[in-house]
Amino acid sequence: MAKDYYATLGVRRDASQEEIKKAYRRLARELHPDVNPDPATQERFKDITAAYEVLSDPQKRQMHDMGGDPFGGAGGGAAGFGAGFPFSDIMDAFFGTASAARGPRSRARRGRNATIRVELDLAESGFGTTRELVVDTAILCEVCTGSGAAAGTHPDTCDMCHGRGEVSQVTRSFLGQVMTSRPCPQCGGFGSVIRHPCQECSGDGRVRTRRTIKVRIPAGVEDGTHIQLAGEGEVGPGGGPPGDLFLEIVERPHATFERRGDDLHCTVQIPMTAAALGTSLTMETLDGAEQIDVRPGTQSGQVIPLYARGVQRLNETGRGDLLIHVSVETPMKLDVEQEELLRKLSQLRGEERPPGKFAPGQQGFFSRLKDAFNGR
Ligand SMILES: [Zn+2]
Ligand SMILES: [Zn+2]
Repeated sequence: MAKDYYATLGVRRDASQEEIKKAYRRLARELHPDVNPDPATQERFKDITAAYEVLSDPQKRQMHDMGGDPFGGAGGGAAGFGAGFPFSDIMDAFFGTASAARGPRSRARRGRNATIRVELDLAESGFGTTRELVVDTAILCEVCTGSGAAAGTHPDTCDMCHGRGEVSQVTRSFLGQVMTSRPCPQCGGFGSVIRHPCQECSGDGRVRTRRTIKVRIPAGVEDGTHIQLAGEGEVGPGGGPPGDLFLEIVERPHATFERRGDDLHCTVQIPMTAAALGTSLTMETLDGAEQIDVRPGTQSGQVIPLYARGVQRLNETGRGDLLIHVSVETPMKLDVEQEELLRKLSQLRGEERPPGKFAPGQQGFFSRLKDAFNGR
């Protein structure tokens, strides 16, 4: 059962737009939440506002006249306030924005954040480092200590707004006289005017400078990591608090290792004979030279893991792994003697005409990795 909005506003069904406006204006003044904050009155105020919203719009009014729901609420919009109902618009239009801040605004504002890029190599990002960074920034003006006024002077109270920071204007509307306020154009809303700006900072309250800061970069950061240094950004105008400085980590590629998260990957090529017979290699890791044991019968694509030889986990204990992917090289050129030996070997192994093992797809990286971790 739809509401009768004519009854809500107390007007006849053939009321003119002017009469509807008048009726709403009269009720709105009586029931406005600023005047009458009790919940029942506020409900009434919502009702009359909904009624006005419908009856002041010819299309919605017609819909209402025909028994329809002008708010089109799927949830049975008899209560009126569907999503998108411009209640606050109406409030603003009729009463001005009640929530607008009063009084002059402060000259002091928070400074901007800044971002600088820091290039690191793998050992630095993986294990942490300390850097001295040169930053172009703004610091508090020591001459005026941020006030912006020349030594021995003070900002003068604005004579246009008398320090209030805003000027008011009375306009006539269908609700009667409405007072609107706007920031004072003479002082920009500050309520005061600096007649003699500080020479050092031209009244901004801060000066530009270049400073060096020492930062500790934690172990485990990676390409794209942002480190927030609270309060290390620019000081704000008028002596406002500083913003933050962000470091954006850029990781230089490493000659041998590819980093995936905390793990490092690399490939080692070994000759076919070494893969079959087993061998041992010396490898330069981030922790220095390490002996790598290649077991007899190692397959191409197998992974040799060196546990906890990856990079430090960020904000955690422990390290990732270093995973060595083996690539077995088949000889491309054989001299007569070598070929003879290999033919002999293949005869001995009964491999002169191998059937081959066919399987769908490629043996993927992850299954090889699994093999490596399960001890093949
Ligand atoms: Zn100054
Ligand atoms: Zn002013």
